[in-house]
Amino acid sequence: MEPTIVSGTEVSNKIKEEIATEVQKIKTSGGKIPHLAAVLVGDDGASRTYVNAKVKACEKVGFGSTLVKLPADISEADLLAEIDKLNNNPDIDGFIVQLPLPKHVDEQKVTEAIAPEKDVDGFHPVSLGKMLLDLPSFLPATPYGIIQMLAHYNIPTEGKHCVVIGRSHIVGSPMSVLMARNTYPGNSTVTLTHSRTQNLKEITQSADILIVAIGKPEFVTADMVKEGATVIDVGIHRIDDASRKSGFKLLGDVKYDEVAPKCAFISPVPGGVGPMTIASLLKNTLLAVQLNSETLIEN
Ligand code: NAP
Repeated sequence: MEPTIVSGTEVSNKIKEEIATEVQKIKTSGGKIPHLAAVLVGDDGASRTYVNAKVKACEKVGFGSTLVKLPADISEADLLAEIDKLNNNPDIDGFIVQLPLPKHVDEQKVTEAIAPEKDVDGFHPVSLGKMLLDLPSFLPATPYGIIQMLAHYNIPTEGKHCVVIGRSHIVGSPMSVLMARNTYPGNSTVTLTHSRTQNLKEITQSADILIVAIGKPEFVTADMVKEGATVIDVGIHRIDDASRKSGFKLLGDVKYDEVAPKCAFISPVPGGVGPMTIASLLKNTLLAVQLNSETLIEN
């Protein structure tokens, strides 16, 4: 069976085009141009790459963008002061603090210091609480991206068994909540699995939709997947590969070559969930402008 490739590149490009059109409309009507800021602490290569990609994506759709670069040895108090400045800067509609942070900084404290109305990563307890209550809020970017992919390809979710591997606060747990919501995509019967799960293979074998965020290269093999399943691979791993000009190749959490022939739908790595995460961040920033201007009108 030839699977349909769930192309995050394609879906994210479409979303970015729609956002660019929206920005043009805002410009024409003299409205507020969305502005996203990103805080980068230290000089970790992967974090720098992610943040640069986010800033570049902002420029492409016509958003304003600001990169706040801070030294790795910044004190927690000084970092919190920088966050406060962004919270109080009326030109910044939303901002993110790139994780991971240096060990001497409490990530949870930093996440909670972000004003919920500017929390476009959707990691603040207020955002996560609103998600649970089906209230309008910023959905965490990666699960939100996956939801948009499922919708774009009209992948049936109602009444389906959705198995999520991994229960991280940024991917697996919110993903399981979104797939169980009373809407489309959603209305699935969800099983959330983790490192203490017993008989994982038996569980994944009954999955109509398998969403993998375990963080182990090529963990999911063909024998774990049901014929005709939809498989969404969240993992990203840089593996050294001297035969390539870049010196590395990217692998997901799924052994793509052997799993793909069994699937109805499968997302590749690269070109799957990764580009969707950035597109969701842009969508959340646009939503921030809308939600915050509505709040202003209500006030
Ligand atoms: P994480 O915080 O490392 O969590 C991994 C999860 O997998 C944990 O819940 C862990 O269980 C579970 N796990 C570990 N071994 C297991 C096993 N043998 N069987 C079942 N479950 C097991 O992961 P994450 O932050 O969600 O990221 C997952 C992957 O996605 C990583 O490769 C990451 O780089 C990638 N990622 C990609 C994007 C993107 O934009 N494409 C965004 C975020 C993350 P316990 O809770 O019991 O430890």
